[in-house]
Amino acid sequence: MNGHRHSRRRFLQTSATLAGAALCPLRLVAADSPSGISSMPLGDGQFFSLSDGQLQLPVSMALPDSLSAQQQQSIIGRNNIGDEFYTPDCNVVLWQTPEKIILFDTGAGSQFPVGGGELASQLESIGIDPYDVTDVVFTHAHPDHLWGVLDDFDDLAFPEAQFHMSQREWDYWLNPNTLSRTPENRQSFVVGAQNRLPLLADQIALFKGGDEILPGIEVVESFGHTPGHSSFMIHDNNRSLFVVGDAIANAVVSFEYPSLLSGSDQDQSMGANTRLALLDRLAHDKSLIVGYHLPAPGVGYVERSDNAFQFVPV
Ligand SMILES: [Zn+2]
Repeated sequence: MNGHRHSRRRFLQTSATLAGAALCPLRLVAADSPSGISSMPLGDGQFFSLSDGQLQLPVSMALPDSLSAQQQQSIIGRNNIGDEFYTPDCNVVLWQTPEKIILFDTGAGSQFPVGGGELASQLESIGIDPYDVTDVVFTHAHPDHLWGVLDDFDDLAFPEAQFHMSQREWDYWLNPNTLSRTPENRQSFVVGAQNRLPLLADQIALFKGGDEILPGIEVVESFGHTPGHSSFMIHDNNRSLFVVGDAIANAVVSFEYPSLLSGSDQDQSMGANTRLALLDRLAHDKSLIVGYHLPAPGVGYVERSDNAFQFVPV
């Protein structure tokens, strides 16, 4: 309880700074690399949005069935939502400071069957050696965020890193009862997590809401997409950045129909409540955000629109 109250207070305290930051125009500049990777200064370091590629998922993951046929038609064709498939971008955040190289999630790796797995080559193109990654912070343990923690040889892709995950997320996936309680079409998620998380056991630091897990990085609980899903506020004197993860997943559906239940959330009503509360605060605070599945590079602002919200890319 305490942790939660603390988290909310810290999060709200940032409002003044963020509103100030929003006044100076932000620009994502292509990094000093031929790849054209998006990058900008953040704190005493540099932020990068790296692409792990696109996934190919059933369109039901993005399109709530509670939408009318007409509403569905107005959405198909926008933000990677096709007739049959949803092909979201996957934006892996990297924050390089003088002391640390911090990754938020690890991409899908090479064993995920439908897309992703491009993080390793993206790191190479900006000159980052996987051995130099000091910290890996997980939003949650779904395949497209976790499975890249292993390389093609099933060894740790970031062998020297300290890993960070919420205690709640860790306990959920490693609970021996989770597999039998999971619908069949998602059981591979559980097996995948249970094959990987134990390999991190010696290097994992487990956190809870409100914790400052690394200098300037505060945990904001955003449960629903998974039981322990977490987002992160990166605090900086001049500019802050909110790492959303999958709590706000699609630039069209999550913003225009935020209260509709989403097929991608494990607890759909908790996911909707979390999404609404976050959108409300982020719009109020004029926070700069980066979303894992928002259109690459996934960086922008939340603004209110007539009925709900809209994503305004930077
Ligand atoms: Zn995801």
